[in-house]
Amino acid sequence: MSEKLNGRSIIVTGAGRGIGEAMARGLAAKGASLTIADIDGGAAEKVAASIRDTGGKAIAATVDVTKRESARNMIGAAVAAHGKLDVIFNNAGIAQTKPFLSITDEDWRRVMDVNGLGVLICMQEAIRQMLTQGHGGKVINTASIAGRQGYEPLAHYSASKFAAVALTQAAARAFGKDKINVNAICPGVVATDMWKTIDKGFVEEGLTQRDNQAFEAFSADILLGRPSRSDDLVGVACFLASSASDYMTGQSLIVDGGMVLL
Ligand code: NAD
Repeated sequence: MSEKLNGRSIIVTGAGRGIGEAMARGLAAKGASLTIADIDGGAAEKVAASIRDTGGKAIAATVDVTKRESARNMIGAAVAAHGKLDVIFNNAGIAQTKPFLSITDEDWRRVMDVNGLGVLICMQEAIRQMLTQGHGGKVINTASIAGRQGYEPLAHYSASKFAAVALTQAAARAFGKDKINVNAICPGVVATDMWKTIDKGFVEEGLTQRDNQAFEAFSADILLGRPSRSDDLVGVACFLASSASDYMTGQSLIVDGGMVLL
């Protein structure tokens, strides 16, 4: 997919590292003007600076996607820097592995807060901005294969990713008439720090070992023979941000090396 993204103003949340960082770098390399958004403002600034150092366009924004005012400020920063908002990747997320019967009410709320409410808030605020501009736009949510099938030991995470898929479909139905495409990317098992858990509040005895076991167990049956690297998601991200995907909406694209075959 060689289409340039020159002039497109794109926000990527959770772009301070991992999949979001790789997608943001790939989008910037195609000429897009990036807003690198993350709750870790220092990490976001580092990614933005290194994109600028290689001739790309990027600003950093500190955001907590679970806070509406913070999401509004992020969108305001993107519009102030790049003049508009064309595309948002709602990619920020957290994960936790825990046996089904051990999931607490608090675990559920924390995972759903970022992966569910955070996606809803950023979708709403971005779509409001796109409607004001009046020339359509693209919303892309990072869901997961765990949003297409329920997985153990991450039932609450799976539920939060089903929520992201549902929000994708509902918004696609609501805003197709406004030329706003809404799609999702469903990665499989991607080697990122997420597997070490980003949320130190979740760390408990044995968690890292359990995460490693889960990573290895999930990786065992991948048809292409290896877990994903963050870079494996870049091609589909560029496609969904480009006019090549203009006739596609409401879809959740599985990019998992061959784990879930639907
Ligand atoms: P990661 O932990 O490496 O990166 C996530 C980023 O999101 C971090 O930079 C973090 O600071 C940021 N973040 C967390 N909470 C935030 C908040 N409230 N507001 C703003 N930013 C916040 O994770 P990753 O593996 O790159 O995952 C990115 C997305 O892909 C997530 O939605 C994840 O659920 C999804 N995903 C990951 C995998 C995988 O195997 N790694 C598989 C499928 C889907």
